[in-house]
Amino acid sequence: MRNLRLADGTSLPVLGQGTWMMGDAPRRRDEEIAALRAGIERGMTLLDTAEIYGDGASETLVGEAVAGRRDEVFLVSKVAPSNASRQGTIAACEASLRRLGVERLDLYLLHWRGRHPLAETLRGFDDLLAAGKIARWGVSNFDVDDMEELVAIEGGERCAVNQILYHPGERGVEFDLLPWLEGKGVAAMAYSPVGQGGTLLRDPALAAVGRRHGVSPAQVALAFAVRRANVFAIPKAGTTAHVIENAAAADLVLTPQDLAEIDAAFPPPARKRPLSML
Ligand code: NDP
Repeated sequence: MRNLRLADGTSLPVLGQGTWMMGDAPRRRDEEIAALRAGIERGMTLLDTAEIYGDGASETLVGEAVAGRRDEVFLVSKVAPSNASRQGTIAACEASLRRLGVERLDLYLLHWRGRHPLAETLRGFDDLLAAGKIARWGVSNFDVDDMEELVAIEGGERCAVNQILYHPGERGVEFDLLPWLEGKGVAAMAYSPVGQGGTLLRDPALAAVGRRHGVSPAQVALAFAVRRANVFAIPKAGTTAHVIENAAAADLVLTPQDLAEIDAAFPPPARKRPLSML
């Protein structure tokens, strides 16, 4: 699996695993755990969860999937904006750690901006860093103006990652946010990179590119997301077949012809667009 380096030198796989909507249905539990473990075995060792996913059910599932192999994985979770006061951030993180059954998160994100001042949340992150409960922090769903505000706060430049919606049908971030993040050494983590398994995967242009390489539209979408040096992606797959397919996408290199065809079907942005989020 190809790697990407964070600004602090940490090397991470370009493809990780999302877990939104996992852990909700008892009858799917065994299959979901098997899928996550299959992904880890194929190098997708970064696992993304959040306290709000299934009200903690996703974190509990991830904890079960990584039990006994904590050192092989890079765990990401997120504080909900409503909890993101200084003390609330600490309490939320401690609850996430309990559900995951681990001592420390590798990356802790503010899920999106809410009513608590960013400076408050950052103090919470600082306290968690000092206590060894998180190794680094970042944000999610931050547009350029949010990032500017963040880095103007003391310590704000230590933001490691901005997790954002990015796939061929959502390219607005290419206009300004992705270049901004590249310039500041903040990695971009693409969420919903296969368009949540919806119409994107039935798109004729992605299918045509895929046929040329003998791969699926989902694999084309993933290769598209991680083609830039600063972007990694976290597809969610609750089935081992999808996980195996996704992991293989890390080896797919899109040609200029492929990219031209994707551009024709999904034109890159010609002007600023407000950041889309789910
Ligand atoms: P994805 O784009 O990852 O799509 C997931 C869906 O696509 C599932 O239904 C899955 O099916 C299907 N799928 C996965 N791989 C394939 C494949 N190879 N072929 C066909 N279908 C496939 O959407 P998500 O919204 O889940 O985004 C990924 C992750 O990003 C989330 O799980 C979450 O961790 C994070 N996220 C973060 C957000 C934020 O605000 N920070 C917002 C949204 C997501 P199946 O499960 O049946 O295998």
